[in-house]
Amino acid sequence: MNSSLSTPFRRNAWMRFCKMTVDVMTRPRRALIWLGWVLLLGLLVSPAHAQEGTPEAQPEVTYMFGEHITFRVRFPSALSIQQVEVFFQANSDPTVVAPMTLDGGEWGYQHDVRAQYVRVFGKVAYWFRLTLEGGETVETARFSFFYEDNRFAWQTLEGVPFRVHWYSGDTAFAQAVLDAARLGAQQAGLILDSELSELVEIYVYGQLVDYQFARSAMGPLWAGGHADPDAGVIVVSLPPGENQMLEVERKIPHEVAHLILYAATGAGFSNLPTWLNEGFASTLEQNPNPDYETLVDSAVQKGTLLPLETLCQPFPRDAAGAVLAYAESTLFIRYVQTRFGQEGIRAMVNAYANGAGCAQGTNVPPINLSLSQLEREWREDNLAENVILTALREVAPWLVLLGVVSIGPIFVVVGFQRPKVVTNP
Ligand SMILES: [Zn+2]
Repeated sequence: MNSSLSTPFRRNAWMRFCKMTVDVMTRPRRALIWLGWVLLLGLLVSPAHAQEGTPEAQPEVTYMFGEHITFRVRFPSALSIQQVEVFFQANSDPTVVAPMTLDGGEWGYQHDVRAQYVRVFGKVAYWFRLTLEGGETVETARFSFFYEDNRFAWQTLEGVPFRVHWYSGDTAFAQAVLDAARLGAQQAGLILDSELSELVEIYVYGQLVDYQFARSAMGPLWAGGHADPDAGVIVVSLPPGENQMLEVERKIPHEVAHLILYAATGAGFSNLPTWLNEGFASTLEQNPNPDYETLVDSAVQKGTLLPLETLCQPFPRDAAGAVLAYAESTLFIRYVQTRFGQEGIRAMVNAYANGAGCAQGTNVPPINLSLSQLEREWREDNLAENVILTALREVAPWLVLLGVVSIGPIFVVVGFQRPKVVTNP
């Protein structure tokens, strides 16, 4: 009944549209429209041709997370196949190609993910290429599977633009993670004038040991953090306990801030100095580490503050060095934000994302200071550090040495002369 009512309406509308088109149509436009129709017909026809050359396939994928992925496929028995290769690609990573072996009418290949990592928590596209008896090659259609940690029965809770996956704790816990993520995105987004355009998946492990196994399965891509900004995935460990909520409010906004930075910079993200990437993310933590100021103060006293230029690259690997690097980066970003506002942060981020070298990415309005000048002013203003004293402290051993070297000969000369003085009546 609905269709009998709506069809004349649609026809009338279409005729009205055609009439309008004809009314305004000039000769070149008419030629273009005919060309459009020809192309459209071509598109409609071509899949049928492709269909003829695409062999039917019955694929199956199973995997042991962090160990291996097994591809199996069957083809119609009428096909005389010489060789089958499987192709697979996670995200935009390089495509892996591997030969398959025939066993009982089924082609199979087992991929060792420990030998060659496959990006986790994401869709993996795969397809097959067949070499037929006559040497002709054909490819199957594309299939996909989702590669995630399948050791757990994940529950999900979604609130745009985030989806929380968790297996330990109640729904209120997942909601707290979601709230922390959204608050982090809002605050970081305000500073950088950016937002997340795609859904972000947050995987929350309830046991450190589970998380550690997952980290080992994630491969080198995740070596430096807990977020895969390119794929829009965050993976964290938030074990139950009295600090759980504090950790939610600390870790989640931090990781979300990395993703907002990525959204703001795109391909330029990889050019951000580590002190900027980690410092910015750390200032977004709702419960920042209270020891950061003490740590930096103590480093000032001892003269062991790490120059920011050394923190452009990945942070020191030793625990003490890494904590000090985070502490300095956080306090430095806070200083820039207090002194130059959001414009200062945005200007630095843009300059570095556009390729500025580490020493000069801060030398843009409204900052207009090289990294070393800005660092010097931060140390003088904010850390109340007497730079001359620090410099003296740093060169003190050399001064002592210089003293020994230059004063030494005087003593030696005096030493030789003294007996003469004593023996002289
Ligand atoms: Zn981080």
